[in-house]
Amino acid sequence: MKAIVKQTPEPGGLALTEVPTPIPGDTQVLVKIKKTAICGTDIHIYNWDAWAQKTIKTPQIIGHEFVGEVVDVGRHVTNVSIGQLVSGEGHIVCQKCRHCITGHPHLCRQTVGIGVNMDGVFSEYITFPAENIWICDENISHDVLSVLDPLGNATHTALSFNVLGEDVLITGAGPIGLMSIPIIKRAGARHIVVTDINLTRLEMAKELGATTVVDVRTQKLKDALKGIKGMTEGFDVGLEMSGSAAAFSDMLDTMANGGKMAILGILPENTIIDWNTVVFNSLTMKGIYGRQMYDTWYRMTALLQSGLDKEIEKIITHRYHYTDFAKAFEVMRKGDSGKVILDW
Ligand code: NAD
Ligand code: ZN
Repeated sequence: MKAIVKQTPEPGGLALTEVPTPIPGDTQVLVKIKKTAICGTDIHIYNWDAWAQKTIKTPQIIGHEFVGEVVDVGRHVTNVSIGQLVSGEGHIVCQKCRHCITGHPHLCRQTVGIGVNMDGVFSEYITFPAENIWICDENISHDVLSVLDPLGNATHTALSFNVLGEDVLITGAGPIGLMSIPIIKRAGARHIVVTDINLTRLEMAKELGATTVVDVRTQKLKDALKGIKGMTEGFDVGLEMSGSAAAFSDMLDTMANGGKMAILGILPENTIIDWNTVVFNSLTMKGIYGRQMYDTWYRMTALLQSGLDKEIEKIITHRYHYTDFAKAFEVMRKGDSGKVILDW
Protein backbone atom coordinates (compact mmCIF):
# COMPACT_ATOMS: atom_id res chain seq x y z
CA MET A 1 0.00 0.00 0.00
CA LYS A 2 1.00 3.65 -0.34
CA ALA A 3 1.91 5.74 2.72
CA ILE A 4 3.29 9.22 3.42
CA VAL A 5 6.45 8.57 5.38
CA LYS A 6 8.82 10.93 7.18
CA GLN A 7 11.87 9.25 5.69
CA THR A 8 14.81 11.24 6.95
CA PRO A 9 15.57 13.38 10.03
CA GLU A 10 15.67 16.76 8.26
CA PRO A 11 13.27 19.56 7.19
CA GLY A 12 10.93 18.20 4.52
CA GLY A 13 12.00 14.59 4.15
CA LEU A 14 8.47 13.29 3.33
CA ALA A 15 7.99 10.64 0.65
CA LEU A 16 5.10 8.67 -0.80
CA THR A 17 6.36 5.14 -0.22
CA GLU A 18 5.24 1.55 -0.79
CA VAL A 19 4.94 -0.22 2.60
CA PRO A 20 3.39 -3.57 3.66
CA THR A 21 -0.38 -3.45 4.32
CA PRO A 22 -0.75 -4.02 8.08
CA ILE A 23 -2.59 -7.02 9.54
CA PRO A 24 -4.88 -6.32 12.52
CA GLY A 25 -4.01 -7.95 15.85
CA ASP A 26 -6.66 -9.66 18.01
CA THR A 27 -7.88 -6.38 19.52
CA GLN A 28 -7.37 -4.18 16.45
CA VAL A 29 -9.37 -3.23 13.39
CA LEU A 30 -8.17 -2.68 9.83
CA VAL A 31 -9.48 0.60 8.36
CA LYS A 32 -9.42 1.59 4.70
CA ILE A 33 -8.74 5.32 4.82
CA LYS A 34 -11.14 7.63 2.98
CA LYS A 35 -9.86 11.06 4.05
CA THR A 36 -7.17 12.45 6.31
CA ALA A 37 -6.51 16.02 7.46
CA ILE A 38 -3.19 17.75 8.05
CA CYS A 39 -2.59 18.96 11.61
CA GLY A 40 -0.17 21.59 12.92
CA THR A 41 1.70 18.66 14.49
CA ASP A 42 2.35 17.23 11.01
CA ILE A 43 3.82 20.60 10.03
CA HIS A 44 6.12 20.51 13.07
CA ILE A 45 7.28 17.07 11.89
CA TYR A 46 7.69 18.35 8.33
CA ASN A 47 9.69 21.38 9.52
CA TRP A 48 11.79 19.13 11.80
CA ASP A 49 11.77 21.64 14.66
CA ALA A 50 13.27 21.01 18.10
CA TRP A 51 10.14 19.18 19.32
CA ALA A 52 10.10 16.88 16.25
CA GLN A 53 13.80 16.11 16.56
CA LYS A 54 13.24 15.07 20.18
CA THR A 55 10.08 13.06 19.51
CA ILE A 56 9.98 11.43 16.06
CA LYS A 57 11.91 8.33 15.06
CA THR A 58 12.35 8.11 11.27
CA PRO A 59 11.22 6.42 9.10
CA GLN A 60 7.63 6.78 10.30
CA ILE A 61 4.20 7.12 8.67
CA ILE A 62 2.76 10.44 9.89
CA GLY A 63 -0.77 11.78 10.43
CA HIS A 64 -3.53 11.19 12.99
CA GLU A 65 -6.71 12.86 11.67
CA PHE A 66 -8.83 10.43 9.62
CA VAL A 67 -12.10 8.89 8.58
CA GLY A 68 -12.37 5.48 6.94
CA GLU A 69 -14.24 2.21 6.67
CA VAL A 70 -13.59 -0.91 8.74
CA VAL A 71 -12.60 -3.76 6.40
CA ASP A 72 -11.39 -6.35 8.92
CA VAL A 73 -11.51 -6.91 12.69
CA GLY A 74 -9.35 -8.93 15.09
CA ARG A 75 -10.90 -12.00 16.74
CA HIS A 76 -11.45 -10.33 20.15
CA VAL A 77 -13.13 -7.20 18.73
CA THR A 78 -16.81 -6.87 19.71
CA ASN A 79 -17.50 -3.12 19.60
CA VAL A 80 -17.00 -2.48 15.86
CA SER A 81 -17.91 -4.42 12.74
CA ILE A 82 -16.83 -4.61 9.12
CA GLY A 83 -18.40 -1.92 6.94
CA GLN A 84 -18.75 0.74 9.67
CA LEU A 85 -17.63 4.31 9.03
CA VAL A 86 -15.13 5.25 11.72
CA SER A 87 -12.67 7.76 13.05
CA GLY A 88 -10.57 7.30 16.17
CA GLU A 89 -9.02 8.75 19.30
CA GLY A 90 -5.32 9.15 18.54
CA HIS A 91 -4.19 8.93 22.17
CA ILE A 92 -3.59 5.35 23.26
CA VAL A 93 -3.63 4.97 27.05
CA CYS A 94 -2.27 2.29 29.40
CA GLN A 95 -5.64 1.17 30.87
CA LYS A 96 -3.86 0.30 34.12
CA CYS A 97 -2.99 3.54 35.92
CA ARG A 98 -5.17 5.32 38.47
CA HIS A 99 -6.55 7.81 35.95
CA CYS A 100 -7.31 5.11 33.40
CA ILE A 101 -9.23 2.90 35.80
CA THR A 102 -11.08 5.77 37.49
CA GLY A 103 -12.58 7.13 34.28
CA HIS A 104 -10.06 9.85 33.38
CA PRO A 105 -7.96 8.15 30.70
CA HIS A 106 -7.19 11.49 29.00
CA LEU A 107 -4.94 12.14 32.02
CA CYS A 108 -2.92 8.92 31.58
CA ARG A 109 0.83 9.56 31.89
CA GLN A 110 1.63 6.66 29.58
CA THR A 111 -0.30 8.19 26.65
CA VAL A 112 1.14 7.24 23.26
CA GLY A 113 0.27 9.37 20.22
CA ILE A 114 -0.61 7.80 16.86
CA GLY A 115 1.43 9.44 14.09
CA VAL A 116 3.83 10.82 16.72
CA ASN A 117 5.18 7.99 18.87
CA MET A 118 4.15 5.31 16.38
CA ASP A 119 3.08 4.95 12.73
CA GLY A 120 0.20 7.24 11.77
CA VAL A 121 -2.75 7.26 9.40
CA PHE A 122 -1.50 8.86 6.16
CA SER A 123 -1.73 5.57 4.29
CA GLU A 124 -4.26 3.52 2.36
CA TYR A 125 -4.91 1.16 5.30
CA ILE A 126 -4.29 1.42 9.03
CA THR A 127 -4.61 -0.89 12.01
CA PHE A 128 -6.16 0.83 15.02
CA PRO A 129 -6.94 -0.34 18.57
CA ALA A 130 -10.64 -1.24 18.59
CA GLU A 131 -11.15 0.50 21.94
CA ASN A 132 -10.03 3.82 20.38
CA ILE A 133 -12.45 3.59 17.46
CA TRP A 134 -15.28 6.13 17.19
CA ILE A 135 -18.21 4.97 15.08
CA CYS A 136 -19.36 7.89 12.94
CA ASP A 137 -22.80 9.20 12.02
CA GLU A 138 -23.12 8.50 8.28
CA ASN A 139 -25.17 11.71 7.85
CA ILE A 140 -22.12 13.88 8.58
CA SER A 141 -19.84 14.59 5.61
CA HIS A 142 -16.56 12.70 5.30
CA ASP A 143 -14.69 16.03 5.21
CA VAL A 144 -16.03 16.96 8.65
CA LEU A 145 -15.52 13.44 10.03
CA SER A 146 -11.86 13.63 9.01
CA VAL A 147 -11.31 16.57 11.41
CA LEU A 148 -12.93 15.14 14.56
CA ASP A 149 -9.55 15.06 16.32
CA PRO A 150 -8.91 18.86 16.20
CA LEU A 151 -12.64 19.55 16.57
CA GLY A 152 -12.36 17.51 19.76
CA ASN A 153 -9.52 19.77 20.93
CA ALA A 154 -11.72 22.78 20.22
CA THR A 155 -14.75 21.25 21.95
CA HIS A 156 -12.77 20.18 25.00
CA THR A 157 -11.23 23.64 25.39
CA ALA A 158 -14.35 25.65 24.58
CA LEU A 159 -16.53 23.69 27.03
CA SER A 160 -13.97 23.76 29.86
CA PHE A 161 -15.67 26.73 31.51
CA ASN A 162 -19.25 27.96 31.50
CA VAL A 163 -19.52 30.82 28.98
CA LEU A 164 -23.27 31.50 29.16
CA GLY A 165 -23.63 35.28 29.29
CA GLU A 166 -19.85 35.72 29.51
CA ASP A 167 -17.31 37.62 27.42
CA VAL A 168 -14.73 35.34 25.80
CA LEU A 169 -11.30 35.96 24.29
CA ILE A 170 -9.86 33.48 21.79
CA THR A 171 -6.18 34.10 20.99
CA GLY A 172 -5.28 32.46 17.66
CA ALA A 173 -7.64 31.89 14.72
CA GLY A 174 -5.91 28.76 13.43
CA PRO A 175 -8.18 25.84 12.58
CA ILE A 176 -8.78 25.00 16.25
CA GLY A 177 -9.42 28.61 17.31
CA LEU A 178 -11.84 28.95 14.39
CA MET A 179 -13.67 25.74 15.33
CA SER A 180 -14.13 27.05 18.87
CA ILE A 181 -16.05 30.13 17.75
CA PRO A 182 -19.34 28.48 16.73
CA ILE A 183 -19.14 26.23 19.82
CA ILE A 184 -18.69 29.21 22.16
CA LYS A 185 -21.54 30.96 20.36
CA ARG A 186 -23.85 27.98 20.91
CA ALA A 187 -22.79 27.84 24.56
CA GLY A 188 -24.22 31.35 24.98
CA ALA A 189 -21.31 33.79 25.17
CA ARG A 190 -22.00 37.52 24.76
CA HIS A 191 -18.87 39.01 23.18
CA ILE A 192 -16.43 36.71 21.36
CA VAL A 193 -13.20 38.54 20.61
CA VAL A 194 -10.64 36.76 18.42
CA THR A 195 -7.03 37.82 17.86
CA ASP A 196 -4.55 36.72 15.20
CA ILE A 197 -1.81 38.10 12.97
CA ASN A 198 -3.30 36.74 9.74
CA LEU A 199 -6.06 38.63 7.92
CA THR A 200 -7.47 35.63 6.03
CA ARG A 201 -7.99 33.81 9.30
CA LEU A 202 -9.47 36.86 11.06
CA GLU A 203 -11.98 37.21 8.20
CA MET A 204 -12.94 33.56 8.66
CA ALA A 205 -13.33 34.21 12.40
CA LYS A 206 -15.74 37.06 11.69
CA GLU A 207 -17.77 34.90 9.34
CA LEU A 208 -18.01 32.16 11.98
CA GLY A 209 -19.48 34.49 14.58
CA ALA A 210 -16.67 36.41 16.29
CA THR A 211 -18.17 39.71 17.46
CA THR A 212 -14.81 41.51 17.25
CA VAL A 213 -11.60 40.48 15.52
CA VAL A 214 -8.26 42.12 16.29
CA ASP A 215 -5.14 42.03 14.15
CA VAL A 216 -2.61 42.42 16.94
CA ARG A 217 0.07 43.52 14.45
CA THR A 218 -1.76 46.80 13.91
CA GLN A 219 -3.92 47.24 17.01
CA LYS A 220 -3.37 46.61 20.70
CA LEU A 221 -6.00 44.25 22.12
CA LYS A 222 -6.54 46.61 25.08
CA ASP A 223 -7.36 49.49 22.71
CA ALA A 224 -9.74 47.36 20.66
CA LEU A 225 -11.73 46.54 23.80
CA LYS A 226 -12.50 50.19 24.56
CA GLY A 227 -15.24 50.34 21.91
CA ILE A 228 -17.04 47.16 23.01
CA LYS A 229 -20.33 47.85 24.77
CA GLY A 230 -20.59 46.59 28.34
CA MET A 231 -17.08 45.21 28.53
CA THR A 232 -15.51 47.20 31.31
CA GLU A 233 -13.68 44.67 33.46
CA GLY A 234 -12.06 42.35 30.92
CA PHE A 235 -12.77 38.80 29.76
CA ASP A 236 -14.51 36.22 31.91
CA VAL A 237 -13.08 33.31 29.92
CA GLY A 238 -9.97 33.07 27.71
CA LEU A 239 -9.10 30.29 25.27
CA GLU A 240 -5.40 30.30 24.34
CA MET A 241 -5.17 28.68 20.91
CA SER A 242 -2.12 30.29 19.31
CA GLY A 243 0.89 28.89 21.14
CA SER A 244 2.31 32.43 21.03
CA ALA A 245 3.91 33.98 24.10
CA ALA A 246 2.74 37.45 22.97
CA ALA A 247 -0.85 36.22 22.72
CA PHE A 248 -0.62 34.62 26.16
CA SER A 249 0.57 37.91 27.60
CA ASP A 250 -2.29 39.78 25.84
CA MET A 251 -4.68 37.37 27.51
CA LEU A 252 -3.22 37.82 30.99
CA ASP A 253 -3.46 41.58 30.52
CA THR A 254 -7.12 41.58 29.57
CA MET A 255 -8.71 38.94 31.83
CA ALA A 256 -11.27 40.15 34.40
CA ASN A 257 -10.44 39.42 38.03
CA GLY A 258 -11.54 35.87 38.75
CA GLY A 259 -11.31 35.05 35.02
CA LYS A 260 -10.74 31.53 33.76
CA MET A 261 -8.21 30.55 31.09
CA ALA A 262 -8.15 27.29 29.13
CA ILE A 263 -4.76 26.81 27.50
CA LEU A 264 -4.45 24.54 24.46
CA GLY A 265 -1.66 26.36 22.56
CA ILE A 266 1.80 24.90 23.01
CA LEU A 267 3.93 27.79 24.22
CA PRO A 268 7.69 28.11 23.63
CA GLU A 269 9.75 26.63 26.46
CA ASN A 270 11.08 29.98 27.66
CA THR A 271 7.69 31.74 27.86
CA ILE A 272 7.58 34.21 30.76
CA ILE A 273 4.37 34.48 32.78
CA ASP A 274 3.61 37.43 35.04
CA TRP A 275 2.62 35.29 38.03
CA ASN A 276 1.62 38.26 40.14
CA THR A 277 -1.18 39.04 37.67
CA VAL A 278 -2.34 35.44 38.09
CA VAL A 279 -2.24 35.76 41.88
CA PHE A 280 -3.60 39.27 42.48
CA ASN A 281 -6.29 38.93 39.79
CA SER A 282 -7.31 35.51 41.14
CA LEU A 283 -7.11 33.82 37.74
CA THR A 284 -7.79 30.13 37.13
CA MET A 285 -5.72 28.35 34.47
CA LYS A 286 -6.48 24.96 33.00
CA GLY A 287 -4.12 23.16 30.62
CA ILE A 288 -5.82 21.10 27.92
CA TYR A 289 -4.29 18.05 26.30
CA GLY A 290 -6.26 16.21 23.65
CA ARG A 291 -9.88 15.32 24.14
CA GLN A 292 -11.78 14.04 27.15
CA MET A 293 -12.24 10.33 26.52
CA TYR A 294 -14.94 9.96 25.52
CA ASP A 295 -17.14 12.76 26.82
CA THR A 296 -15.76 15.16 24.19
CA TRP A 297 -16.55 12.70 21.37
CA TYR A 298 -20.20 12.39 22.44
CA ARG A 299 -20.65 16.13 22.82
CA MET A 300 -19.03 17.09 19.52
CA THR A 301 -21.09 14.47 17.69
CA ALA A 302 -24.27 15.90 19.24
CA LEU A 303 -23.18 19.41 18.24
CA LEU A 304 -22.47 18.29 14.66
CA GLN A 305 -25.87 16.58 14.51
CA SER A 306 -27.50 19.86 15.56
CA GLY A 307 -25.99 21.87 12.73
CA LEU A 308 -22.41 22.62 13.79
CA ASP A 309 -21.24 20.58 10.79
CA LYS A 310 -22.26 23.39 8.40
CA GLU A 311 -19.93 25.80 10.22
CA ILE A 312 -17.07 23.30 10.38
CA GLU A 313 -17.40 22.81 6.58
CA LYS A 314 -16.50 26.49 6.18
CA ILE A 315 -13.18 25.91 7.99
CA ILE A 316 -12.14 23.27 5.43
CA THR A 317 -10.52 25.39 2.72
CA HIS A 318 -8.38 22.99 0.64
CA ARG A 319 -8.70 19.44 -0.65
CA TYR A 320 -6.02 17.39 -2.47
CA HIS A 321 -5.52 13.84 -3.63
CA TYR A 322 -2.91 12.16 -1.42
CA THR A 323 -0.46 11.94 -4.31
CA ASP A 324 -0.43 15.78 -4.22
CA PHE A 325 0.58 15.81 -0.55
CA ALA A 326 3.54 18.13 -1.25
CA LYS A 327 1.17 20.88 -2.47
CA ALA A 328 -1.10 20.31 0.53
CA PHE A 329 1.81 20.71 2.97
CA GLU A 330 2.92 23.90 1.21
CA VAL A 331 -0.56 25.42 1.61
CA MET A 332 -0.67 24.51 5.31
CA ARG A 333 2.82 25.88 5.89
CA LYS A 334 1.90 29.24 4.37
CA GLY A 335 -0.85 29.65 6.98
CA ASP A 336 -3.49 31.22 4.73
CA SER A 337 -5.70 28.15 5.05
CA GLY A 338 -8.19 26.54 7.35
CA LYS A 339 -8.07 22.74 7.37
CA VAL A 340 -6.41 20.96 4.43
CA ILE A 341 -7.80 17.52 3.52
CA LEU A 342 -6.13 14.63 1.70
CA ASP A 343 -8.40 12.31 -0.26
CA TRP A 344 -7.29 8.62 -0.38
P1 NAD B 1 -2.11 27.06 14.19
O1 NAD B 1 -0.66 27.16 14.39
O2 NAD B 1 -2.66 26.78 12.83
O3 NAD B 1 -2.83 28.38 14.72
C1 NAD B 1 -2.26 29.29 15.57
C2 NAD B 1 -2.74 30.68 15.16
O4 NAD B 1 -2.21 31.62 16.08
C3 NAD B 1 -2.25 31.09 13.77
O5 NAD B 1 -3.36 31.47 12.96
C4 NAD B 1 -1.31 32.25 14.05
O6 NAD B 1 -1.31 33.23 13.04
C5 NAD B 1 -1.89 32.78 15.36
N1 NAD B 1 -0.98 33.65 16.11
C6 NAD B 1 0.37 33.72 16.08
N2 NAD B 1 0.82 34.72 16.87
C7 NAD B 1 -0.26 35.29 17.44
C8 NAD B 1 -0.45 36.36 18.36
N3 NAD B 1 0.57 37.05 18.85
N4 NAD B 1 -1.71 36.66 18.73
C9 NAD B 1 -2.78 35.97 18.24
N5 NAD B 1 -2.65 34.95 17.36
C10 NAD B 1 -1.41 34.62 16.96
O7 NAD B 1 -2.58 25.95 15.22
P2 NAD B 1 -3.90 25.09 15.45
O8 NAD B 1 -3.80 23.81 14.71
O9 NAD B 1 -5.14 25.91 15.30
O10 NAD B 1 -3.65 24.77 16.98
C11 NAD B 1 -3.65 25.80 17.95
C12 NAD B 1 -2.60 25.59 19.01
O11 NAD B 1 -2.93 24.44 19.79
C13 NAD B 1 -1.18 25.33 18.50
O12 NAD B 1 -0.25 25.92 19.39
C14 NAD B 1 -1.08 23.82 18.55
O13 NAD B 1 0.27 23.37 18.64
C15 NAD B 1 -1.85 23.52 19.81
N6 NAD B 1 -2.43 22.18 19.94
C16 NAD B 1 -2.47 21.68 21.19
C17 NAD B 1 -3.08 20.46 21.42
C18 NAD B 1 -3.19 19.95 22.81
O14 NAD B 1 -3.63 18.83 22.99
N7 NAD B 1 -2.80 20.74 23.81
C19 NAD B 1 -3.63 19.75 20.35
C20 NAD B 1 -3.60 20.31 19.08
C21 NAD B 1 -2.99 21.54 18.88
ZN1 ZN C 1 -3.11 5.09 32.09
